[in-house]
Amino acid sequence: MNMKLPGLDISNESDWRTDFAQGIRSAEDLLKHVNLAPEDVDLVEGADLGAFPLRVPQSYVAKIEKGNPRDPLLLQVLPLKQEFQSQPGYVKDPLHEEEYNTAPGVIHKYQNRALFVATQACAIHCRYCFRRHFPYSDNAMTADKLKAALDYIASRQELDEVILSGGDPLSLSDPKLFQVLEGLNSIQHLKRIRIHTRLLAIMPNRATDAFLTGLKALQKHLVIVVHINHPNEIDDEFIQAAGLLRQAGVHLLNQTVLLAGINDNVQTLNQLSHRLMDAGVLPYYLHLLDPVEGASHFNISDAQAIQFVRELLEQLPGYLVPKLVREVAGFKNKLPVDLGLYTQK
Ligand code: SF4
Repeated sequence: MNMKLPGLDISNESDWRTDFAQGIRSAEDLLKHVNLAPEDVDLVEGADLGAFPLRVPQSYVAKIEKGNPRDPLLLQVLPLKQEFQSQPGYVKDPLHEEEYNTAPGVIHKYQNRALFVATQACAIHCRYCFRRHFPYSDNAMTADKLKAALDYIASRQELDEVILSGGDPLSLSDPKLFQVLEGLNSIQHLKRIRIHTRLLAIMPNRATDAFLTGLKALQKHLVIVVHINHPNEIDDEFIQAAGLLRQAGVHLLNQTVLLAGINDNVQTLNQLSHRLMDAGVLPYYLHLLDPVEGASHFNISDAQAIQFVRELLEQLPGYLVPKLVREVAGFKNKLPVDLGLYTQK
């Protein structure tokens, strides 16, 4: 099968890999591409961004409005001075994941589901990412570590779902990715494999022929959660790729992080739900920000978030309203936020 749709070429794995490898790595370079000067933004200059430097591929830059320092896509990736303002309660590991790191790359904190971090790489570095300080180097995947992780999952009969998470699992090449997927596929007690990725929305040509064919050959139920925060991230190519994934039998869901200055208004959230539906993707979670060090400037209050969802409930069919949730360290599930719907507005 060699798929070529107008605008979306998925016949060649090297296309997305080139885009992946050639991403922009400096703020100055990024600003030039979007016709802005350093003085237009509150840029962090010369600061040590450690293991989480700026990283953004050209395919994402192309969606940023030129000359707009408040562009909601730009602000997700541009390191600003606020990252270095320490705020009480914002910590390196807000979800205490290191406590649940039970095997290489495996985070087992939910009862019947385990997370598997198969790679540290991402195509893009989102400044609000709650794993921006995760000790990826201790979890870097080798053949031995992959075997240890699969052995652990195989030994835990209570697991019925494994969630491939980030780094971004789709940043692995198809051969490496399918080593993991086929390993999971062979574990009998698993019913579902879920992949959390931001890469498909950024590089829809990641849905290569080989990827689609490989997915079709797996026997487990497949769920892909695309992490899209703003309607401007969804273009026609993504809609085409999502259609091909649905044809391959994949259930598509979206998870959005509620972010100040990016999507903190009802109109944007409403448009996002409609645009996701255009792609056949159901809104799943609207996530309150995890309090990770360096991201406090993205936070919005619970009261604002609740008001947004109340208004969305009035404006949209129920299946297009994502669940408002937060993750709290120590709990074995995400916590739904009480919308107070039985009290007066
Ligand atoms: S793990 Fe996801 S949210 Fe974090 S930087 Fe990578 S793509 Fe962005």
